[in-house]
Amino acid sequence: MPDSNDLTELIELERIVKDGGRHLEQRVVCEVDCGGRRFPVYAITLGSASPDVPAVGFFGGVHGLERIGAEVVIAWLRSLVRRLQWDALLHRQLESVRLVFMPVVNPGGTWRGTRANPNGVDLMRNAPVDASQRVPFMLGGQRFSAGLPWYRGAQGAPMEAENEAVCTLVEQELRGRSFSIAVDCHSGFGVRDRIWFPYAHTDQPITHLPEIHALKDIFDETHVQHRYIFEPQSRQYLAHGDLWDHLYLRACTQTGRVFLPLTLEMGSWIWVKKNPRQFFSRHGFFNPLIEHRQQRVLRRHLVLLDFIARATCSYRRWIPTDAARVTHYERALAHWYR
Ligand SMILES: [Zn+2]
Repeated sequence: MPDSNDLTELIELERIVKDGGRHLEQRVVCEVDCGGRRFPVYAITLGSASPDVPAVGFFGGVHGLERIGAEVVIAWLRSLVRRLQWDALLHRQLESVRLVFMPVVNPGGTWRGTRANPNGVDLMRNAPVDASQRVPFMLGGQRFSAGLPWYRGAQGAPMEAENEAVCTLVEQELRGRSFSIAVDCHSGFGVRDRIWFPYAHTDQPITHLPEIHALKDIFDETHVQHRYIFEPQSRQYLAHGDLWDHLYLRACTQTGRVFLPLTLEMGSWIWVKKNPRQFFSRHGFFNPLIEHRQQRVLRRHLVLLDFIARATCSYRRWIPTDAARVTHYERALAHWYR
C-alpha cells in the first residue's frame, strides 16, 4: 500500500478527488520508493473522453522543493471541483475539452524537501536531449555526482520512473490530439513570474512559434494588466536533458498536431526580498512562507491556468493559419530572437 498519508499534498489531492466523485478519474501512474515509504504518483482526468477534443495537462511538483508549484495545480483542481457543483458553463466547457492533472510528479523529492527525486536525479535534466550549445556549468546539467544539484543521471541509463510516467501520460492524453497544451508549474527563478516555452537545449526557435505567439497575443489582449514575462527558456539559460524539449521534439514527428509545452516559473526571489528571513531557509527560497502571500500567489496563477484551459478549448478561434502564421512568425522572431 502506498503511504500517501505522509504527504499533505497527496492527502489533499485524495480529498479533492473524492469530492469530485463521478466527474473525475484517478489513476496511479507510478510508485516511488523513498526512505522506507512508497508514494503514488497520481494522474487525474476530467472532461470529455473523446480523442477528438483538445486537451490540456497541468503538472506540478517536478522539483520536490518547489512545493508552491504543486499547490498551485492542486488549488486549480480544487476550484474546478467546487465549480462542478454549480457552474453550468464549466460543464459546457468540459464537453469540448479534456483536462489532465499530475500535481505531484516527484512525491519522494517533496517528502524529502529536495529538488531531485530520491535517486538524486534532477527530473528536468534527465531526458535524452543534449544541448547543442554551451550550457552554464552545473546548472545546465551535470553527470559528476547524484550528490550535487542538477544531476542528469548516468549516461545511457533509462529515464527516471517519474519522467517515464509523465511521458506515458502525455502520450496517452495529450500528444495524439490535434491540439494540446501542457503547463508545468515551478518556482525559484528571479523576481518576475515567467511563462517559458521550448527550447531549453538550443537558442533556435521552435516549429510552433506562430502558435505560441498567437497565444501570447490573446493573453496580452485578454489580461492587459498581467505581469508575466512570456519567453523561450533559452533567453535565460540553456540546459541538457529538458523533459519538455524531449516531449515537444517527439510530438513534432507527428504532422498535423500541435503540442505546446509551457513552464510557469514563479519568481520566488521577490518573496525573499519582502521577507528577508526566508533567505536563511532553503524552503523559503522557493516558496512564499507567509500565509497572505501564499494566498495571493495561488489566486494570481489560477487566472492564468483558467485562461490556458479556455484557450485550449477554443483553439480553433485563435490558432493562426496561412498568411497569419507567417506574420506571427515574423513578429515572434523580432520579439524574442533578434
Ligand atoms: Zn523547478
